[in-house]
Amino acid sequence: MSNILEVKFSAKSENESLARVIVASFAAKLDPTLDEIGDIKTAVSEAVTNAIIHGYDEDESKLVYLRCNIEEDTIKIVVEDRGHGIDDISMAMQPLYTSKPELERSGMGFTVMESFMDGVVVSSIKNEGTKVVMTKKISLPK
Ligand code: ATP
Ligand code: MG
Repeated sequence: MSNILEVKFSAKSENESLARVIVASFAAKLDPTLDEIGDIKTAVSEAVTNAIIHGYDEDESKLVYLRCNIEEDTIKIVVEDRGHGIDDISMAMQPLYTSKPELERSGMGFTVMESFMDGVVVSSIKNEGTKVVMTKKISLPK
C-alpha cells in the first residue's frame, strides 16, 4: 500500500491550520489513534510555522511546499521553503534556541517535532531554503 500527496500554499499563517488538516486527512487511511493524529498535526504546525516565520519572514507572496507519502505503516512528511535557510542546523535544533526571542518564540519547535515523530531530518542551505523530513510509524489497531 503506498500513496502520495503534494501541495503548495501561500506562506500565510492561516494556512498552518490548513496544512494540519490536509496531513491529518491523508494519514487517516493508516487508522491512527487520536494521539498519533495529534502528534502529526502538532509536528506539521511547527514545521510550517517555521517555514513562514523564519524561512520567509512572513512574506505572504512566498510558497511553502508540503509533500507526504505513505509506505506500508509509515507516513513521511516533507515541509520545504525556499527562504533564508539555516546557518547552523545543530544549534537551531537545540531545545530553547531561537533566533527570534523578540517574537516570544520559545525555541521548542524542533524539539516538539523530534518528540512527536519517529524521525526528523533537517537540511538547509543559506539563502536557498530549508527542508524538514519527518517520519512516523503508525501502530496497528489493537
Ligand atoms: P518556537 O517554535 O518554539 O516558537 P522557534 O521557531 O524559534 O520557536 P524552533 O522551531 O525550534 O524554535 O527553531 C529554532 C530556530 O531554527 C529558529 O529560531 C530559526 O532560527 C531556525 N529555523 C527553524 N526553521 C527554519 C526555517 N524554515 N528557515 C530558517 N530558519 C529556521
Ligand atoms: Mg518554531
